[in-house]
Amino acid sequence: MKLEALIRPNIKKMKPYSSARDEYSGADGIFLDANENPYETGLNRYPDPYQREIKTNLAAIKAIDPRKIFLGNGSDEPIDLLIRIFCEPGSDKIITLDPSYGMYGVAAAINNVTVVRVPLTENFELNADEVIRHIDPNVKIIFLCSPNNPSGNLLNKDEVRKIIRMFPGIVVIDEAYIDFSGDPGFLPELDEHPHLVILQTFSKAWGLAGLRIGMTFASPRIIHYLNKVKPPYNINVLSQQKALDSLRNRGKVGEEIRSLIDARSALIKQLAQHPLVEKIFPSDSNFILIRFTAAPAVFAHLIKNGIIVRDRTSVKHGENCLRISVGTEQENEKLLNTLADFKPL
Ligand SMILES: *Cc1c(COP(=O)(O)O)cnc(C)c1O
Repeated sequence: MKLEALIRPNIKKMKPYSSARDEYSGADGIFLDANENPYETGLNRYPDPYQREIKTNLAAIKAIDPRKIFLGNGSDEPIDLLIRIFCEPGSDKIITLDPSYGMYGVAAAINNVTVVRVPLTENFELNADEVIRHIDPNVKIIFLCSPNNPSGNLLNKDEVRKIIRMFPGIVVIDEAYIDFSGDPGFLPELDEHPHLVILQTFSKAWGLAGLRIGMTFASPRIIHYLNKVKPPYNINVLSQQKALDSLRNRGKVGEEIRSLIDARSALIKQLAQHPLVEKIFPSDSNFILIRFTAAPAVFAHLIKNGIIVRDRTSVKHGENCLRISVGTEQENEKLLNTLADFKPL
């Protein structure tokens, strides 16, 4: 299906807000067009609505055309915007995997869009045929998360490609954890698929969860519609400055990623010997999903000792599972010592 036919008609027809910085984007001059306060505070001017400097830097790093980049207030913003662009409230649907990241379903529910949850296998693997079986003309977006949260594994790329080939709507691949996987992800294949959207974020590998900037990579037409519906100044000046600093000094980020991957292996090796650990699911991310013999008791023991992990016992296939983020060396050691101290009744 042509992309234009997938856009909600009201979104296609509407006239977007035109900000002062849309109508004049030059950098020099006397700016009396936006009712800003002229006295300099470092923040008295509105931010660049299209974050051009960040995109230029990011385009070089990711080897991608800057016209294929959209930046949002976290990844959560583009998740919501994509649903609003493509899904008619009250009649359209999205497909998500079960278990997966919760925000796809929440954003759909807010927009009165039905969520079809397709279970992963017991080992959290993607079965493309199972997803394809649930496609109907009202399904407009399929959200895949790879590496998947909360299971931690990369999805099989051929299964993902099968869905991309079969599905006439939009396929979103959330790659929030891709930098921990050693896999290039789907960015190198973006040009082949005008209906593919890739989400990445500054929140995990880049160490900037507090900044709230998510990256979206897609064809220029999809980026055009994201820009059309976004709040005009969705990334504030301070966040833009901080993101630029980080992009320019990214050596440290690479080092941290390598340390976290090493720490993940060490943690898995040691946890595997713990008598209460029943199963450790393979991780391509900065967290590990672990099945314990009695997860609630382990969870309570950790909390009592000031260690907070995520209880995933109630998610699909997550029986007795806790999700643990990889911490610093000292934090991981404290975790292992605290687990070693645990004496089940
Ligand atoms: C953490 C996470 C994100 C990041 O969301 P932000 O809004 O960018 O902080 C996105 N997707 C998944 C699956 C995550 O786990």
